[in-house]
Amino acid sequence: MSAVKIQSVRGMNDILPDEAEFWEMFEDTIRSWLKSYGYRPIRLPVVEPTPLFKRAIGEVTDIVEKEMYSFVDTLNGEPLTLRPEGTAGCVRAAIQHNLVAQQTQRLYYLGQMFRHERPQKGRYRQFHQVGVESLGFTGPDIDAEQILMGARLWNDLGLDGIALQINTLGEPAERARHRAELIRYFEHNGDRLDDDGRRRLHTNPLRILDSKNPALEDLILGAPKLIDHLGAESLAHFEGVQQVLRDAGQPFTINPRLVRGLDYYNLTVFEWVTDRLGAQGTVCAGGRYDGLVQQLGGKPTPACGFAMGVERLIALIREAGGEAKAAAVDVYLVHQGTAASRLAVRVAEALRDQGIDVLFHCGGGGFKAQMKKADASGASFAVIIGDDEADAGEVTLKLLRATDKQANEQQRVSVDGVADAIMSHILDWEE
Ligand code: ATP
Ligand code: MG
Repeated sequence: MSAVKIQSVRGMNDILPDEAEFWEMFEDTIRSWLKSYGYRPIRLPVVEPTPLFKRAIGEVTDIVEKEMYSFVDTLNGEPLTLRPEGTAGCVRAAIQHNLVAQQTQRLYYLGQMFRHERPQKGRYRQFHQVGVESLGFTGPDIDAEQILMGARLWNDLGLDGIALQINTLGEPAERARHRAELIRYFEHNGDRLDDDGRRRLHTNPLRILDSKNPALEDLILGAPKLIDHLGAESLAHFEGVQQVLRDAGQPFTINPRLVRGLDYYNLTVFEWVTDRLGAQGTVCAGGRYDGLVQQLGGKPTPACGFAMGVERLIALIREAGGEAKAAAVDVYLVHQGTAASRLAVRVAEALRDQGIDVLFHCGGGGFKAQMKKADASGASFAVIIGDDEADAGEVTLKLLRATDKQANEQQRVSVDGVADAIMSHILDWEE
């Protein structure tokens, strides 16, 4: 009887070693970039109580209505959800551990998110985000800092052609007035709406502005604009953000249709968009969410943040010709014979003590077969130990890089001298 092969869940991808090495390189860049702005890591659970997301993201949003992986804990009946985004959990943790009582926080996290969407290029059911959250800051300076952080990262990653769009959503009261006008406008033009639009008309009419249906284009263009309903303070905040961007020479466009798919945003919202990834072109999105901390039971605390889609950014780096440096080890350790193999274990450990990476040959076989594996491993050196070497307390050091191989460079060195011999070659190459 042949067992049925079990495959990964649709839209949830394995990241195999060639790709994973690339991800680690990306993550190194991300961490040093965040550190350069004083952001500190926070690690959060992948599973949270379902009410957290319903309250934070909003009941009438794509995420809560149809994209969440929710289930009931069979042991205690608790409703749980695989996190579809990170802000809600981050704010929950900040409240729970009193991180925002007397102080401000600049926090970041990196990890899996889960949304039950239709899988396609740049859209998966398990995907990864780098999330950045600043808690406790009121002014437009932090919004602008977060936006400009993006520009620096694209540069660090060697990416260009990522355009900045910004908008303001105003404050809840201003939105309420705009919302009432929108509903009047769309009711008046009810026959021009699509099903989605009719459904959202009285629940979340703002989301109609975000519709991707081209048939609604003209209708949306003619709709009442929020900016005409903003008070002086909201306008000043938005102007403050723009001022910093202009001072930094950062180009941007104001996109009044940018409303974001999560309810918790107010004032500044922004997206970084590329046209090189097809339909899934937003690589980074965020904004201010001053009401969320209080909404989740904390003291009123202003906040803003953004999230980047790691899969989309990595696709973009690949598209721009980026390649991972081969993460080969330094040494492949070839050994044959009982005494030689026992010595080889000790030599491998001694090399690692000196910070030299060693791939120790396992599984026996003759010298010739082992040397083939050493070549294929990409290692710069083979350290070869046979009975001959073992008797003499020596090893054979063979250089495997293409040019060295042509010269057939190899030497006998004492067991105690092999680390130094390797290091001196490495230093030579670095010059
Ligand atoms: P979209 O409009 O593409 O659905 P979104 O507004 O739902 O995006 P956010 O919740 O703002 O996305 O998430 C921030 C970023 O995370 C997005 O800009 C995108 O880069 C990435 N992202 C969101 N959903 C997915 C997904 N299903 N697969 C891969 N990346 C995603
Ligand atoms: Mg979405």
